[in-house]
Amino acid sequence: MNRLLVAIALAVVAAFAAAWFLEGDAARVGWLGELFLRALKMLIVPLVMFSMIAGITALGDVRRLGRLGGRTVGFYLLTSLIAVVVGTLLVNVVRPGDGVDASAAVTTDPVMDKGGLGVVDLILGFVSDNVVASMANLDLLPIIVFSLAFGAAVSTLGERGAPLVAFFDAGNAAMMRLVHWLMYLAPLGIFGLVAGRFGEAMAAGGRDAFVAELSAVGWYVFTVLAGLAIHAMVVTPLLLWGLTRRSPLAYARGMGKALLTAFGTASSSATLPLTLDGVTEDNGVDRRAAEFVLPLGATVNMDGTALYEAVAAIFIAQALGVDLTLGQQVLVVLTATLAAIGAAGIPEAGLVTMVIVLQAVGLPLEGVGLVLAVDWLLDRFRTAVNVWGDAVAAAVMERHGLAPPS
Ligand code: ASP
Repeated sequence: MNRLLVAIALAVVAAFAAAWFLEGDAARVGWLGELFLRALKMLIVPLVMFSMIAGITALGDVRRLGRLGGRTVGFYLLTSLIAVVVGTLLVNVVRPGDGVDASAAVTTDPVMDKGGLGVVDLILGFVSDNVVASMANLDLLPIIVFSLAFGAAVSTLGERGAPLVAFFDAGNAAMMRLVHWLMYLAPLGIFGLVAGRFGEAMAAGGRDAFVAELSAVGWYVFTVLAGLAIHAMVVTPLLLWGLTRRSPLAYARGMGKALLTAFGTASSSATLPLTLDGVTEDNGVDRRAAEFVLPLGATVNMDGTALYEAVAAIFIAQALGVDLTLGQQVLVVLTATLAAIGAAGIPEAGLVTMVIVLQAVGLPLEGVGLVLAVDWLLDRFRTAVNVWGDAVAAAVMERHGLAPPS
C-alpha cells in the first residue's frame, strides 16, 4: 500500500512539473482526472449509506449512537472554532489586506445569487423532501440524516433486524473492496487533476501571469496557508497525541493517499472513500467510530474552510479600508464556523457560504472578487486540512466516543 502512496506523491510532483513547463498544454490530460473524479463520485452515495448504516448497527445499542453523536458534534465544533480563532489572530497580525488594490473587487455571480443564504437555510439543508433526488444530486447531508435514522431504527429491531444488519455489513465490505480497486487509478487520476487544473491556470497568460496573479494577493495567500499549517501541523497533532496517544506522523502517513486526493479533487466528499480506507485500513481505527464520524465530517466538519472564511472576510475588510470592531470580529468567528458547517464538501463551496460572514458584518458581497482568482488553489489546501480534521476526529472518537451504555 505504501508503494501506492509514493506513486501518488510522484504523480503530484510530475503534474506540477508538467504544468510549469508545458503551461496550457498540460490541461490536455485533464480528462484523466475527470475519469478518476467520476469514479469516486460514483461510489459516494452507496458508500455513505452502506458504511453509515453498517457502522451504526455495529454499535449494538442505539443509546451508544447518542453518546457518539453528541461527542462527535462537540469535537467538530471545538476544532472548527479553534481553526477560526487561529485564522482570525493571524490575519490581524499579518494584515494582508493593507495596501491591496480593492478596485479589483467585482460582482461574482455564484455568490450573488446565494444572497439569501442564512442560518435557517443551513438547518433546512439537513432534510430534503426527496431522498432519491438528494442521491441524484450528490446532496449528502440529507442522505446522512436518512442513513443515521434508518440505522438507528434497524438497531432497535432485534432479531427481526438481523438480515438487514448482515445485508448492510456485506454491502459495506463490497463497497470498500471497490474503493481498494479504484485506488490503483489514483496516481494517474491525481496526475490528471493537478496537471489539468494548474495547466488551465497557466493557459491564459503562461507562468508569468500566474505568478503575478498570486503575488497580487500574496500576503493573503501566505496568511491562509500559514494558518492552515499551524492548525494541521501543530494544533490537531497535539489534540491527536494528547487524546489518543497515537503518533501524529504515523497517523498522517496512513492518511497520505487521502490527503493527496483531497488536494487533487478539492472535494472532501469525493475524497471520502479514501478517507475511510486510510482511517480504518492504514491506521486501524475501529470501524464503528470511523463509519459514523467520517461521512458526517466530510460534509459538516471543515476546519480548513472555517479558518479560510475568517481570514478571507477580514482580509476583504482590510482591503476595503473597513475597520472591524472587536464585536464584529467575534461575529466573524461565529459566522465563519457556521459557514464552514454549511459548506458542502465540493470544490469552492466555502466561497459561496462566505456570504453568511460578509453579510453578518455588513461587508459588500462584491468583496469576494478580491479572493476569487486564487480560490481554486487555496481550496485544495483547505480541503486537505478538512479531511485531516475528520481523520483526527475518528481516532479521538474511537477512544472517547465508543463503549458505554450497555
Ligand atoms: N472544497 C472544500 C471541501 O470539499 C470546501 C470548501 O472549502 O470550499 O472540503
